[in-house]
Amino acid sequence: MTPDGNPLHRFGVSFSDPALLDRALTHRSAGHANYERLEFLGDALINAVVSIELYARYPRAPEGDLTRLRASLIRESSLAELARRIDLSDFLRMGGGELKSGGYRRESILADTLEALVAAVYLDGGWDRCQKLVRDLFADAFDAVDLSASKDAKTRLQEWLQGRGLPLPEYLLVDTIGKDHDKTFRVACRIADAQLMAEAEGRSRKSAEQAAATAVLARIDEGSTVRVVPEGL
Ligand code: MN
Repeated sequence: MTPDGNPLHRFGVSFSDPALLDRALTHRSAGHANYERLEFLGDALINAVVSIELYARYPRAPEGDLTRLRASLIRESSLAELARRIDLSDFLRMGGGELKSGGYRRESILADTLEALVAAVYLDGGWDRCQKLVRDLFADAFDAVDLSASKDAKTRLQEWLQGRGLPLPEYLLVDTIGKDHDKTFRVACRIADAQLMAEAEGRSRKSAEQAAATAVLARIDEGSTVRVVPEGL
C-alpha cells in the first residue's frame, strides 16, 4: 500500500473527498457504500476518453477499425491488466466470502474497480483530471496498437493467423440477396483449425469479405470462441 491507501498516488492523483476513493475501492460484499454506481459511470468515461484519443490518433482509420481498437483496449481482460499494474487488489475492500474465494484476483472485479476509480476521479476533480488519468493509464496500450490501425481486416486477420502457425481463412459466399442492381452479398469467413467462423454482409463480395474478417477479429478480441487466445496488449 502507498502511505495514503491511494492506488492512483503514482499518477499524481489525490482526492479532496476521501469518501469517493473509499467507495470506489469497496466491493458490494463489504458494504452498502460500494462501487457499483461508480462503475457504471466509469465505464462510460473510459469509453469516451479512449474514443476521443483513438479518433485523434488515427485520422484516416475507418469506423470499423476504430471500434475494433476501442473494444480491444477496454475489454475486461485489458482493464484487469491495467489494474494489476497498479496493484489494485492490494487496495480492495471485500467481505469475507469474496475474500476467501480469491475475489480480489478475479478479472471482472479488478476491471470494475478500475472503472469505479476513474469515475471517482471525475466526480472529485472534474473532466480534465479524469481524462489525464485515463490517458496515463492507457499510455502504453495506446502506443502498442499503433501499427495495426491502417491495415484492412483481411490483411490483419491473415497476419494474426500466420503469426500463430494457423491456416489461412476461407471466404465462402453464403448467399446473394436482391436483384442485380441492388444486391447484398453474405459471406462466411472460416478458420477450420481454430474452430472460428463469422458471417457478414456487404454491397459487394469484397466488402462482405472484409466485414466477415472484421467479425472474426472481433471474436478473437473477445477471446471467446478461439482456443488460441491472442496476446495481451
Ligand atoms: Mn464493468
